[in-house]
Amino acid sequence: MKMPVPDADLIARKGEIVRALRKIVPGEGVVADPDGLVPFESDGLSAYRQTPIAVVLPETTEQVSHVLKWCQANGVKVVPRGAGTSLSGGSLPLTDGIVLGMAKFNQILEVDYANRCAVVQPGVTNLAITGAVQAQGFYYAPDPSSQIACTIGGNVAENSGGVHCLKYGLTTNNLLGVEMVLMDGEVVRLGGRGYDAAGYDLLGLVTGSEGLLGVVTEVTVRILPTPPVAKALLLGFPSVEAAGATVGDIIAAGVIPAGLEMMDKPAIQAAEAFVHAGYPTEAEALLIVELDGPEAECAELAGHVKALAQARGADFIRVSRDEAERLAFWAGRKAAFPAVGRLSPDYYCMDGTIPRRQLPQVLTRINALSRQYGLGVANVFHAGDGNLHPLILYDIEKDGELEKAEAFGADILKLCVEVGGVLTGEHGVGVEKRDLMGEMFDDTDLACQQRVKCAFDPDALLNPGKVFPVLHRCAELGRMHVHRGKIAFPELPRF
Ligand SMILES: Cc1cc2nc3c(=O)[nH]c(=O)nc-3n(C[C@H](O)[C@H](O)[C@H](O)COP(=O)(O)OP(=O)(O)OC[C@H]3O[C@@H](n4cnc5c(N)ncnc54)[C@H](O)[C@@H]3O)c2cc1C
Repeated sequence: MKMPVPDADLIARKGEIVRALRKIVPGEGVVADPDGLVPFESDGLSAYRQTPIAVVLPETTEQVSHVLKWCQANGVKVVPRGAGTSLSGGSLPLTDGIVLGMAKFNQILEVDYANRCAVVQPGVTNLAITGAVQAQGFYYAPDPSSQIACTIGGNVAENSGGVHCLKYGLTTNNLLGVEMVLMDGEVVRLGGRGYDAAGYDLLGLVTGSEGLLGVVTEVTVRILPTPPVAKALLLGFPSVEAAGATVGDIIAAGVIPAGLEMMDKPAIQAAEAFVHAGYPTEAEALLIVELDGPEAECAELAGHVKALAQARGADFIRVSRDEAERLAFWAGRKAAFPAVGRLSPDYYCMDGTIPRRQLPQVLTRINALSRQYGLGVANVFHAGDGNLHPLILYDIEKDGELEKAEAFGADILKLCVEVGGVLTGEHGVGVEKRDLMGEMFDDTDLACQQRVKCAFDPDALLNPGKVFPVLHRCAELGRMHVHRGKIAFPELPRF
């Protein structure tokens, strides 16, 4: 993986940069000593690490604004960071830039039950939003597995999803408004407390923009009433194809489960050995289907789903009888990632999305790729959304295995695009999938996206090296308007 060549002059100016930033964020708000920087060197894509010039930990929007304005005036690159759980390297630092950590923005500012929304700072964890409203019978629906640690600011930047997003939508469908600081220090508000705001849908543009357009300093999210009843079904199948086909059947029948997850045999066996959730270890594939709503509706839909599964040959069917059993059914799924960690010294978690009807064929081809690369794979994923998470098993200590795992992962993502899907479901592009963007977008698409980036951040100082394979200078993109053969900004080097 190549990052932009670091600017040695900027690195040499470390002392001056730190002094200037300490004037804006005094006290312990700027970390610059080597030991203090270590925890920020990496994120959830832990195979990669880089030490930034400094980490700045502001506490107010005003400080964020002054920091960005100073960095823009002085050509200093900025990587925004929430909890650093990104799996695509979104918050991986740059050696010639600073990290802007939002951890101190950790307050729930207001809960507005009349408008069914909560206004929170971006460093609040996803789970803490539900924690703040559950006593009143509400919750925040998008539930990434990392919800105990990841921040809502990071969720906005990655458009994060989770088990319950099939029915209730991703972050973008539960986000009402943000306050955001642009690279020149301007503070803007997008959206509000209603479902739509005047003008272009800039909130939609900013959601999932991976820290490339601005730094989010306040977030307004929808909160929903907690459903009265939830029931989970465990459905074991003799083949992944039958389980995959059942997923399509359930949705086609008009049933939208609150969650519809799938695990293949290696994942089932690893999870069962780890937490003893009562999973059928001989099944080739397991579906966990959660239905929520009034009791009578859940019972009716459970019967419907059971019949569909039986028609596809399901030979193991359990319906949770009470809340304790429902949670036990989920315990295996929730522990699946750490459980798979016991199968191999390392694993690489992929994230791609395919049309639901392609599930059976794609799973078969992933298994063929697994044989071709000689690396194991376990599948645990959001089947209802077609969002795959193949876990590629490898050993970083063995020469060439990391490269082999990455090549296998790239082939899986190419396969997702080939069957009409996309490179990412919820983990973002970051540095991980950056060089595969060309598989999905042609040069014109990419240039258009970069022009949007330029409108927000003309000097490309916010999170450079992420998402776009080659970050053109914004002035260079202006070259598209060539007048009588004369290139605009001829003094700029072309690269
Ligand atoms: C064990 C594990 C399980 C996971 N499960 C899921 C899952 O089920 N679903 C899912 O969607 N993801 C999952 N993830 C990925 C990750 O948790 C999400 O992408 C999450 O949204 C990142 O939040 P964060 O606070 O850690 O952000 P970071 O990792 O710090 O940053 C992520 C991106 O957001 C940007 N950013 C952060 N804060 C701001 C801000 N205030 N303003 C502007 N940009 C900002 C950063 O620049 C970076 O590009 C998982 C990760 C782990 C480690």
